[in-house]
Amino acid sequence: MNVIMEKQKRIALIAHDHLKDELVLWCVKNKDELKKHFLCGTGTTSRLIAEATGLPVKAYKSGPLGGDLQVGSKIADGEIDMMIFFWDPLEAQPHDPDIKALLRIAVVYDIPVATNSATADFLITSQYMDSQYKHALQDFQALTEKRAETMKKEFE
Ligand code: PGA
Repeated sequence: MNVIMEKQKRIALIAHDHLKDELVLWCVKNKDELKKHFLCGTGTTSRLIAEATGLPVKAYKSGPLGGDLQVGSKIADGEIDMMIFFWDPLEAQPHDPDIKALLRIAVVYDIPVATNSATADFLITSQYMDSQYKHALQDFQALTEKRAETMKKEFE
């Protein structure tokens, strides 16, 4: 099943506390590119980016209050195209299971994810930022139906 990412990307932005300055600075540096796209993110991160860049950023709940899960559910619904997520490798987070779930679902839906500044630089300068991008996903509907069929047989 082919999924088309439009030229205007829907980008989720998230940073843990010790990395918020780094992400905000990265957004300021890349403001001219970011302003062509639709931005969203977890509560505190979104607010800081919106204030520093003047760009609109749709804010979900704060990460520890369910924001990561909200972003994950938007990815599963096909409403987010890529994610810049500066997660902290040096500090445990209270919502660690949510972070794991978010990173997992981004892989399931083949979403480009940058987890540090260098990868974010590569992503934002990709030729695909300025054009449509087509990628192939497994047909999850067919997979679900097949799975349900198999389960049903086990009860016969
Ligand atoms: P925050 O959430 O932007 O509300 O701080 C980020 C996170 O901790 O996942």
